[in-house]
Amino acid sequence: MENRIKHARPHVTRNEALIFERTSPGKSGVELPPLDVPAVAPEQVLGQDLVRSEIEGFPEVSEVDVIRHFTRLSTWNYGIDTGLYPLGSCTMKYNPRINEAVANLAGPATDHPYAPEPLVQGCLKILAETADCLVEITGLDAVSLQPAAGAQGELTGLLIIRACLEDRGGARKYVLVPDSAHGTNPASVTIAGYQVRALKSSDRGCVDPSALAQAMTEEVAGLMLTNPNTLGIFETEIREVCRIVHAKGGLVYMDGANMNALVGVARPGAFGVDVMHLNLHKTFSTPHGGGGPGSGPVAVTEALEPYLPAPVVERSADGTYRLYYDRPKSIGRVRAFYGNFGMAMRALAYILAYGPDGLRQATEDAVLNANYVMTRLEDLYDLPYNQPCMHECVFSDRRQAARGVRTGDIAKRLIDYGFHPYTTSFPLIVPGAMMVEPTESAGKEELDAFIDALRSIAQEIEEDPRFVLKAPHTTRISRLDEATAARKPVLRWKPT
Ligand SMILES: *Cc1c(COP(=O)(O)O)cnc(C)c1O
Repeated sequence: MENRIKHARPHVTRNEALIFERTSPGKSGVELPPLDVPAVAPEQVLGQDLVRSEIEGFPEVSEVDVIRHFTRLSTWNYGIDTGLYPLGSCTMKYNPRINEAVANLAGPATDHPYAPEPLVQGCLKILAETADCLVEITGLDAVSLQPAAGAQGELTGLLIIRACLEDRGGARKYVLVPDSAHGTNPASVTIAGYQVRALKSSDRGCVDPSALAQAMTEEVAGLMLTNPNTLGIFETEIREVCRIVHAKGGLVYMDGANMNALVGVARPGAFGVDVMHLNLHKTFSTPHGGGGPGSGPVAVTEALEPYLPAPVVERSADGTYRLYYDRPKSIGRVRAFYGNFGMAMRALAYILAYGPDGLRQATEDAVLNANYVMTRLEDLYDLPYNQPCMHECVFSDRRQAARGVRTGDIAKRLIDYGFHPYTTSFPLIVPGAMMVEPTESAGKEELDAFIDALRSIAQEIEEDPRFVLKAPHTTRISRLDEATAARKPVLRWKPT
């Protein structure tokens, strides 16, 4: 295997030349049907200045050229439908196709969001039942499906905390955030008008109750923590942590992006959390990547329910549903319409298809898979927090860095072996972090192949680190200037 990968070189065949460079004057890829309406000159409709007689550099190609161009581009991509996508913290699990079928049902998929309530009873019922399921799963009392992503859920939850504390007579100044937190946490705290106070993690990688007790003053609105945390470790002191925050009149926000480790096994409401968000696009299998769509429902205790975004879906005694706006304590709307309705439908389909036992099984498989990867690689890769993990495990590149090879280089080499890289350099408290989240979607054969690839790369680093430093070797483009690619992306072809 190793040799094959070493010698494979990308070769751009004639077929792969970009379509735009294959233009041939007079060729056409479309055959329009005869007009069945009176012909109107475009100038008459658009005005002379909006009509151009020619598009500069526009390729003239045949239908088969166009089909081949787009089919080829689609094969240059890598997604969860192509192979393992162990991007830690992102829960890149398989999106079951049944969810898509359900979300595309005529009716819910096509109803206008402003349709009168009597005509969209089915949609409102779907929203109400999705919220009910999430109440059950989180152990909290009420859910809003409005937020469009995890980060917006964080902001919504913090604004709820703020509104509640102001009601209780004291706006506070700070929110405690562990140093292992996802970058969105401090950002949300700041946007919600609080100041961040970082909380140093213990040697075990967890919140240290005595450090928390010191930091938790009456100026502090609460604690924002992720459980399991971003090291993939369950906060075993969570009950004590919540008690300390509550004793000082603060509230506990849980970043629920890692719920794939808990669904059906543990409920945050039961261990003392007041408000949390869920990422439907992670834990509940709705598709994500490439910027959207997302859905970040927020779950709260009964005491915080009055502050949830308006409107909420209400079920009347006669079994009908309505959108209820008259909520004087609500923080207001955080998103248009009903949130990302299609994502709620997909999540509900997923939850109902699995049922309680299936959801629990998925969680247990996700945890098992991560522990399997951790155990089979710990002899070759450093484990800074060496203990059983939850749904993801975090190695560091310490041993490989001694040979000059860093986490990003190993990730690039994984591409040659046909895998999407793990998450590099996060969480920040692990220098050279390599964060692997296989999810329950990966079968044992696939995990073994991934493990073999990382084992083989470790050996390559011993034998020839420079070769790994130049990876990937099999892709059309090797290393991008990532900063420039992010800041000045070239997203369309232009005639030269
Ligand atoms: C993904 C993630 C978020 C942010 O969620 P988005 O939906 O991307 O906004 C927050 N915290 C953690 C730990 C995450 O993994």
